[in-house]
Amino acid sequence: MHIGGEFVASESGEWMDSVNPATGEVHGRVPAGTAVDVDRAVQAARAAQPAWAATHVFERGAILRKLADAIRARTDVLELEAADTGNTIASLGRDLDLAAAYLNFVAGLGMEIKGESVPATPENIHFTMREPYGVVGRIVPFNHPFLFAAAHLGAPLIAGNGVVLKSPDQSPLSAKVMAEICHEILPPGLVNFVSGVGMVVGDAIVRHPQVPRIGFTGSVQTGMAIQRSAAEVAVKHVSLELGGKNPFIAFPDADPGEVADAAVAGMNFAWSGQSCGSTTRLMLHESIYDDVVSRIAAQVSGIRLGDPLDPQSGMGPVNSEPHYRRILDIIGSAKEEGATVIAGGGKPAGDQFARGFWVEPTVFGDVTMQMRVAREEIFGPVLTILKWRDEDDVIAMANELDLGLTAAVWTNDLKRAMQTVRRLDSGLVWVNGTGRHYLGTGFSGWKDSGLGREECLEEVLSYTRVKAVHIIL
Ligand code: NAP
Repeated sequence: MHIGGEFVASESGEWMDSVNPATGEVHGRVPAGTAVDVDRAVQAARAAQPAWAATHVFERGAILRKLADAIRARTDVLELEAADTGNTIASLGRDLDLAAAYLNFVAGLGMEIKGESVPATPENIHFTMREPYGVVGRIVPFNHPFLFAAAHLGAPLIAGNGVVLKSPDQSPLSAKVMAEICHEILPPGLVNFVSGVGMVVGDAIVRHPQVPRIGFTGSVQTGMAIQRSAAEVAVKHVSLELGGKNPFIAFPDADPGEVADAAVAGMNFAWSGQSCGSTTRLMLHESIYDDVVSRIAAQVSGIRLGDPLDPQSGMGPVNSEPHYRRILDIIGSAKEEGATVIAGGGKPAGDQFARGFWVEPTVFGDVTMQMRVAREEIFGPVLTILKWRDEDDVIAMANELDLGLTAAVWTNDLKRAMQTVRRLDSGLVWVNGTGRHYLGTGFSGWKDSGLGREECLEEVLSYTRVKAVHIIL
């Protein structure tokens, strides 16, 4: 862990293993942090934060740009990250670029952390100003731990806060590399990395009386638990980036080849489908259903499953044993409920997949919204395909879950596209696209998929508090 500018073990002396999901074997360990460690981290951040907040915002931006350059240079983290997460090494270079791009983006937003002057009375002066919260707690999930550990520092830091960041216990190793980068570039104590179990370290951050602002990325269940825990101790500002079960609606005029390509790309198989934004519910109009399904079957059956460290690998394992067992269970239930296996459908054959957490890239057809496979976020390599005839019915299917993160619409009819965009209960809609994030436009879930917006100016401002000032003349 990295606390107060030093690399330290847990005060408990305990360690936790990290398992390589490709082999099921332990390949590293991290300190098992405790509430005492969290308190040390918070105190270190509290001590460092006032000087940081007093640093000119341009200087803070310049330091964030240095972090971005250092992140791009640490390509040595890619092997560690591929081995710890199961994401393919070929796909991971992008994580460094995304993290660096995000830090550069927020570095340029410093001057936008501004207030307003308000003509509340004609005789006096009224204005607002923005100030940092102090110490921010950031808790990140297992799917892109390095990208999240890096990018999620940007908004709190440019806004003048100190940070305590908790790494995920399923893939905790790369946080050390980010800590090394921070150690070189940032003032000691400004950013602290604490590893350990969510119920211990995460909970201690959430409940710490001197952490008024929590930024969480993870599952809906944990997000709700964090809201409850925070509310038990204080009134805190909690923002949540949570899960999705994202619909992709293809209209009859859509080109079947384009839809098939976008549906496969939108599943993020290079990360075993472990992405919150994956469009996992493909809703095909009946007139193009067979054509698109056969193209998807051919593409997905051709994905080369293999060692995530092999540059030729198209998909690695899923990240942990409980996760793996749950995915196989849902696949089993889909078969029992009458879904048709279009591709994959279980554990791959072969000695190289005998150990570890391997699931075939899987596609189910003839799925209905009554099936578990269509209702639960799987967070794995499982695409479900539903058939529709009536436009109102497909919108109802798309909106009927409590989740609303991303959605996609495919049609060349602009009017129909925009009418559909209006009717979808999702925080982001792609028209004739899937997958990509566009910096500055924001990313946020509706309904149970989240609270607050990231990847835009609003995120930076959300790490500040507004003070109204009245100068009585
Ligand atoms: P998770 O189980 O909710 O865990 C996320 C983080 O929360 C981990 O660091 C975890 O620690 C910690 N945690 C667990 N219980 C906690 C508690 N009671 N208090 C405080 N912290 C606690 O999620 P995950 O399985 O790592 O990630 C997958 C989920 O993240 C999916 O639902 C996915 O959709 C979502 N996600 C959303 C976005 C987005 O931007 N919307 C992006 C990526 C992922 P441990 O690791 O020690 O359990």
